[in-house]
Amino acid sequence: MATTAEPGTTSEATNRPTPAKGWGSDAADQPLRPMEFERRALRPDDVAIKITYAGICHSDLHTVRGDWPGTVYPCIPGHEIVGRVTAIGSEVTRHRVGDVVAVGCMVDSCMACDQCLAGWEVFCREGCVQTYNSPDRHDGTISKGGYTDHIVVRDHFVLKVPAGMDPSRTAPLLCAGITTYSPLRQYNVGPGTKVAVVGLGGLGHMGVKLAAAMGAHVTMITTTPEKGEDARRLGAHDVIISTDAEAMAAAATRFDFILNTIPVSHEIDPYLQLLGRSGRMVIVGALTPMPGFVGANLIWWNRAVGGSAIGGIPETQEMLDFCAAKDIYPDVEFIRMNQVNEAYERLLKNDVRYRFVIDMSHGL
Ligand code: NAP
Ligand code: ZN
Repeated sequence: MATTAEPGTTSEATNRPTPAKGWGSDAADQPLRPMEFERRALRPDDVAIKITYAGICHSDLHTVRGDWPGTVYPCIPGHEIVGRVTAIGSEVTRHRVGDVVAVGCMVDSCMACDQCLAGWEVFCREGCVQTYNSPDRHDGTISKGGYTDHIVVRDHFVLKVPAGMDPSRTAPLLCAGITTYSPLRQYNVGPGTKVAVVGLGGLGHMGVKLAAAMGAHVTMITTTPEKGEDARRLGAHDVIISTDAEAMAAAATRFDFILNTIPVSHEIDPYLQLLGRSGRMVIVGALTPMPGFVGANLIWWNRAVGGSAIGGIPETQEMLDFCAAKDIYPDVEFIRMNQVNEAYERLLKNDVRYRFVIDMSHGL
């Protein structure tokens, strides 16, 4: 085990909880502020990671602001994490001290149920432990995420950043990347598939890049006309402004697959009408109750609507390897930890191109 004096560093003789720093919120109406807490002593299958980069997902904001039920305060978010291994537990064989690694939305699960065994840990029958705001399986403490100097994670949930990959731009792949890669793969998007991606934000811009890299014909559907040029640069072959009723009408029945990343509750009929025969729309953005829709918009043209939750660990590694092989990275804007509140306000104003990443080298 490592013996250097870095945060999260542990040696066999000194395996005890480590003091940690992070930024979190005390209540839904409070800004994030610096906080101190402890990371647990390493369990035999744990990996300690010094965090170098952390992406900011809209889910972090939803959780901190109480948009979804169940936030436990203080809440320290962050589930797009890249860093370097500083220590490993006695049973860890997959990771070594010094490895560049990544952590996404999950840090533990039962690893014994049908879902875990099939690589779908996100649907663990006992409930997976999410990277933040989730009770630990052993001691019940509430998990604290990536806006921190270091993290301790069960080895299975630590991903390998492929050699040669730029770690500074890798973090957003751990949520925005896998959440878009997984449904595109589940529904066999590839050459010949006509795909529309709705919402050009963190998830949407990865959706465009990944679908294009898989060989699909990609259309960006956006509320923001100024993003049209960007969408083409990111790989979209076509752009539709969703507020342009004429353009939407002209696109009726055009698509085989729609990836819908809109982060709030919204009418889905206008998008259902864009699906062709046996087309499918997968909703990944809106978790809150949605308004009703017209049944005929599903029945006519044999359409389907579904959802998708991040992805499993094996598929996340596959996505990282795919991005490394194809040189696919998110477009990121680096910020310092103390700019996180400003970044949240900009995220709410739809003013990010297209993912904020906290560079921890400036300290917390
Ligand atoms: P984001 O960066 O804020 O992007 C969302 C995009 O949606 C915006 O850039 C905007 O794009 C569009 N949009 C925003 N408000 C809209 C509205 N009222 N009507 C129509 N379009 C609107 O957010 P993100 O980080 O990509 O996350 C998107 C959603 O996915 C969030 O709700 C997040 O919690 C959720 N999420 C789900 C999973 C999962 O496992 N399913 C995983 C991660 C995140 P345009 O300007 O192009 O219209
Ligand atoms: Zn996320």
